[in-house]
Amino acid sequence: METNVTNIIIEKVKKSRISEVDFSNLPFGKVHSDHMLVCDYRDGAWQTPRITPYQGITLDPSAKIFHYGQSVFEGMKAYKDENGKVWLFRPDENQKRLNISSKRISIPELPREIFMDGLKTLVQIEKDWVPTTPGSSLYIRPFVFASGTGLHASPADQYKFFIVCAPSGPYFAGKVRVLIEEKYSRAANGGVGYAKAGGNYAGQFYPTQLAIQKGYQQVIWTDDNTHEYIEEAGAMNIFVRINDTLLTSPVSDRILDGVTRKSVIDIARAEGITVEIRKVRVEELVSASKNGSLKEMFGAGTAAVISPISGFGYRGSDYDLPEMKDSYASLLKKKITDIQYNKADDPFGWRFEV
Ligand code: PMP
Repeated sequence: METNVTNIIIEKVKKSRISEVDFSNLPFGKVHSDHMLVCDYRDGAWQTPRITPYQGITLDPSAKIFHYGQSVFEGMKAYKDENGKVWLFRPDENQKRLNISSKRISIPELPREIFMDGLKTLVQIEKDWVPTTPGSSLYIRPFVFASGTGLHASPADQYKFFIVCAPSGPYFAGKVRVLIEEKYSRAANGGVGYAKAGGNYAGQFYPTQLAIQKGYQQVIWTDDNTHEYIEEAGAMNIFVRINDTLLTSPVSDRILDGVTRKSVIDIARAEGITVEIRKVRVEELVSASKNGSLKEMFGAGTAAVISPISGFGYRGSDYDLPEMKDSYASLLKKKITDIQYNKADDPFGWRFEV
């Protein structure tokens, strides 16, 4: 690990809670590790970051996060290899994206060193919390929100940056059925869809609940203008395989520039798979499903890794995906997780030892 350039104040727990945790049966994102990182923004500057025992915080009821939803977050993971070494995957991408998100909702950008050094130091301290059961990892949640007060609808003058960690099992239990949504929209041109802003997720909950009631696990959003093109899912970018070509929508104002998505594109191309980055019509999926050329669909995201989709609902009809023996999803999942867990070479230079 590089030497830290950031001064970090560290206060460790008196007694770790780790022995209370059942590592063989981890839910996703519900178990907190011992420590967290916190850094305040006030008087126009980010202050010295601190690592402290994981604990609750007190906020003023007029803190702007409560009223205007000024908050952004990231999602990343630490992976442990067979020798007990811990790795991050493309953390610089999350660092950059946090600031891209912040800028869009007038949160002051966080200096790169605070993010990177804070992250490395925290994950080093929490090394024992990185699980080793297959499919598990330490999920890491960096986030920034407006702690400054005032009921005037304008940006706050104080913010807090946190990193919390949760040893986690898989995000989805099995294959995922999705509903292609035509009424509600996740994002619009000129909006905040490309940002990981908290409100983007709140807005998805109600339509997703409706889809769950109908027996689906996730919604696939379509473009807000015509609802004719698929965009992405709640926390995953979407890939479609028609014959042997892999398709994914271009990122835009409305679609999150996923780290997994761009990694999958690079890996697939290196494997000799033809990847087309273009808009995909829902009708194209329906007719490809009918004529048998729709071979696979899968979601790609940090939490969900590569999640195969078993079928989709659209306008009251259901379309099932075939069972593929040598699926692109399983090949790409193996390739990306082998890099993440240090089981294979890292030709792209994505792995980062903590
Ligand atoms: N789309 C959305 C809306 C997301 O929240 C996420 C999760 N960050 C993704 C796609 C996948 O992005 P990544 O691969 O960077 O996790």
